[in-house]
Amino acid sequence: MPLPAFLPDATLGVVRSVSSDDLLACDTPALVMNAFHLMQRPGSSTVQALGGLHRMAGWPRPIVTDSGGFQAYSLIAQNAKFGSISSNGITIRPEGSDRKFQLTPEKAVQLQVSYDTDVVICLDQCTHVDAPEDVQRVAVERTIQLARRCRSEFDRLMEQKRLTAEQRPLLFGVIQGGGYRDLRRHCAEALLAIGFDGYGYGGWPLDKDNRLLTEIISYTRSLIPARYPMHALGVGHPANIVACADAGYTLFDSAMPTRDARHGRLYVFTAEQPYLSASAADWLDYVYVGDDKHIKADGPISPWCDCPCCARYSLGYLHHLFKIGDGLFHRLATLHNLRFMVKLTESLRAERHD
Ligand SMILES: [Zn+2]
Repeated sequence: MPLPAFLPDATLGVVRSVSSDDLLACDTPALVMNAFHLMQRPGSSTVQALGGLHRMAGWPRPIVTDSGGFQAYSLIAQNAKFGSISSNGITIRPEGSDRKFQLTPEKAVQLQVSYDTDVVICLDQCTHVDAPEDVQRVAVERTIQLARRCRSEFDRLMEQKRLTAEQRPLLFGVIQGGGYRDLRRHCAEALLAIGFDGYGYGGWPLDKDNRLLTEIISYTRSLIPARYPMHALGVGHPANIVACADAGYTLFDSAMPTRDARHGRLYVFTAEQPYLSASAADWLDYVYVGDDKHIKADGPISPWCDCPCCARYSLGYLHHLFKIGDGLFHRLATLHNLRFMVKLTESLRAERHD
């Protein structure tokens, strides 16, 4: 897969409103699905009965599965009665459910492997970047312990399945440590010593004002040798992708571009051949499809876009579909924003290798 790449979130096994053919028409390189959510809906035995994630979703290209550390953290941060995190993994009691879900590091790996994923991500303990140092330290130690158990379980399963190095999925470790450099370093060194195929930047990547945590994100990348791919988990704003790519990250995923599309915020380049500067995002503009000024717009969303939506439909027609709440709007808008993300990463590859 050519890098850098943006991977849309197909959390529950689908990028909302679009089919696999739609995704291929945009040249989407890969998807991120969530093992933790899939274990609840449709349930692990159902995913397995439907032939694993590739067959279930009719998706021929790579799939990265996230373990659920971040989702568990979000749920528990919202309300402690939803569950707990310990050195043995995660226990979750989702609201309105009388079932309890237990996710040990071994189970997180077993599930992802049984789902026929291409990249397994270790279970980790996520924190908020503003959490105090003692909280971050506990999370880092736990993340290292969890990663070690994930690695052992992964190796045991590969041995058992007799998969060769080429047939195996990849295993990624996630670096925690919040905003503390020494903790990030400690976590990165411990994970490098355990040994993974790639690494992820763990923790929410934005501060409380929604600004990218550029300094600590760049520092964390510098701790991992350049030969390893590094995934900026949850980074999806186009300007943030450019900043993280400049820091050396090559994989990105987020639900933001597709969510923005469904809400009528469409991404466009301001020039046919934009120069992607991280310091000034003057290459990026938004078209708010619901604005009255688009009622009679008879051109495409962008004159430079080659997505299936811009090839056939006018912005005025999209405005109409948006206003009447038709599902076709969600599909076409999603296709447009996803094609924008593919073009963005293509431009990054071309520019940064000049
Ligand atoms: Zn388009």
